[in-house]
Amino acid sequence: MIRKLVLVAAFFTLTACLAENSVTGRSQFIIIPPSQDAALGLEAMQEVKKTAPVVTTGAMARRVQEMGQRIARVSDRPELDWEFIVIDEPVLNAWALPGGKVAIYRKMLDNLNDEQLAAVVGHEIAHAVLRHGAEQMSRAQAQNAAILGLGVLVGTQTENQQMSQLAVSLGALASQGFVSLPHSRKMELEADHVGAIYMAKAGYDPRNAITLWQKMASLKEGGGSQPTFFSTHPSDDKRIERLRDNMPRYLEYYRG
Ligand SMILES: [Zn+2]
Repeated sequence: MIRKLVLVAAFFTLTACLAENSVTGRSQFIIIPPSQDAALGLEAMQEVKKTAPVVTTGAMARRVQEMGQRIARVSDRPELDWEFIVIDEPVLNAWALPGGKVAIYRKMLDNLNDEQLAAVVGHEIAHAVLRHGAEQMSRAQAQNAAILGLGVLVGTQTENQQMSQLAVSLGALASQGFVSLPHSRKMELEADHVGAIYMAKAGYDPRNAITLWQKMASLKEGGGSQPTFFSTHPSDDKRIERLRDNMPRYLEYYRG
């Protein structure tokens, strides 16, 4: 009986967390309240800064910061506390944390021109705006909850304790480059689409979103120990095909 009540309670908790995304119109399952995104991202970012070679000053960091702010300004969430950092590692990767914390790895900067880099930055900004990180974490939490007999959702920990733990594990994942790994295919295509609109609005030629993926394919590396943008972002034809289909719309924003 109690078990049944817990299940019913959990069901209501879960359904209460389905919300329509105002940008995409898609219904998302998110148990992290939007008000927690900023604190979560900030705490996770502090964790990253403890463990990864983060660069926040100098020409390399400035390039990413100026571009990031320029694109974030025209996004659907300009008011977020956006932060753009470079991680000084020879890795082709990038990720976004909840609340607008974005990292680009050095090898991306070495290999991409500004317009291609704008496609990556726009894509990551879109992940943050669309709350894909929070959505992914919610899915993982719900799976854990199912495995642990719903302990996570009905546990004795306070919400703040849970958030704090979540932030530390998210930060640890981020510093290892794993953050963008679990994004679903749907999220990837959404981030491509919305990211191309943002880059175009900011004055970058959206056709470079396509050359980016072609370029990434040419840079494809053998399997290292670290995940790369390539392993988390398969550069398949579907991706390019979708961008091509919507290009007239992106170009309207660009020529606006
Ligand atoms: Zn992505």
